[in-house]
Amino acid sequence: MTLATGSQFLAIPGPTPVPEEVLRAMHRPVIEIYGGEIVETTESCLRDLKKVFRTEGETFIYAANGHGAWEAALTNTLSRGDKVLVCESGRFAHNWGVMAESMGIAVETLPGSWTAAVDAEAIRRRLEADTGHEIKAILVVQIDTASGVQNDVLAMRRAIDAAGHPALFMVDLIASLGAVPFEMDAWGVDVAVSAAQKGLMMSPGLSFNAAGPKAMEAHRSANMRTRYWDWTERLGEIPYQKHCGTAPVHLILGLRQALDMLLAEGLEAVWRRHRMLARATRAAVAEWAKGGAVAFSITKEEERSDSVTTILTGEGQDPADLLRWLTANTNVTLGIGIGDLKGRAIRIAHMGYCNAPMLLGTLSSVELAFKALGIPHGSGGIQAALESLAHDLGDMRG
Ligand SMILES: *Cc1c(COP(=O)(O)O)cnc(C)c1O
Repeated sequence: MTLATGSQFLAIPGPTPVPEEVLRAMHRPVIEIYGGEIVETTESCLRDLKKVFRTEGETFIYAANGHGAWEAALTNTLSRGDKVLVCESGRFAHNWGVMAESMGIAVETLPGSWTAAVDAEAIRRRLEADTGHEIKAILVVQIDTASGVQNDVLAMRRAIDAAGHPALFMVDLIASLGAVPFEMDAWGVDVAVSAAQKGLMMSPGLSFNAAGPKAMEAHRSANMRTRYWDWTERLGEIPYQKHCGTAPVHLILGLRQALDMLLAEGLEAVWRRHRMLARATRAAVAEWAKGGAVAFSITKEEERSDSVTTILTGEGQDPADLLRWLTANTNVTLGIGIGDLKGRAIRIAHMGYCNAPMLLGTLSSVELAFKALGIPHGSGGIQAALESLAHDLGDMRG
């Protein structure tokens, strides 16, 4: 006996559901790569990515996952022995730093926690102490998909400016681009890194760099540049150079369709949708938490991310049991806790191609699982989610 037959609800924080239109755009014979459609489509994607990153800088597309774009950002701007400051707030900035270290970069970590956003004041203090300007770049994530935190990128920029420090500001937007507000140029971000499979509604396999003028300047003297990632190579006139080889044809065709959908909805509307779905999720979790089943991983309401909600499970509750039950009985798949939260948390993604019924179906299934498994929980979660959505829709009309 199962209630799982029906649509799959994949609510892990990446990869996220891919719209039918995007899948269909990829379902066609391969095309030639030296001219015509794929050359124009690559150009238009590079142009439209600027709209999504909100930059007039350069954009680059790699046939790689997010880790590839991390490596690209580092090799293109830094030199062996340079020091970077990694601002910790969960798992992903740390892992970006691990990659930097493996490449011969000196990594200093600004210690953070899994329960709070990066403290911009701590950045300012550290940079003020760096009078010799040894730190060449600051690495942070906007949303950490493991802890569920959303960092305040603009506050960090202000902290760097307050310290009068020249380091490059590099931000990982892999779990936030196309989900929450980001203004690369207005917020003074020098290098932005993202990937296709989260907010951007595409299947995994493409990732991106966006580089502002200061980053392009640093690029000229960086000595870790390698051919595949090299920005200069990719800015060349020959179409083949844009991908440093054969274009990932179907991925580009899919990305084109995904960007069309994102821009047709309008970035501001996309951001509002994510905000509303996230608020509804938090409203449900707050009710469930009253019964002790779960708790928020991030202490302050305003630091909880709008693309994924990480929740701690109660003592003695193995989250794997809950997730197994959900998939087997409802075809809802949630993310498991990772890193410091391994074995202690679940993650509900509300990112990318996600609407109200998908979210409500997911949340209702979670509440159903609590009931079926006898996990103590406050019972008004779904009601609270509905009220949150109704309230926010009312606000938008008014
Ligand atoms: C998913 C994710 C990554 C890693 O991306 P991959 O495509 O798996 O390499 C990096 N940073 C953040 C914030 C992420 O959410």
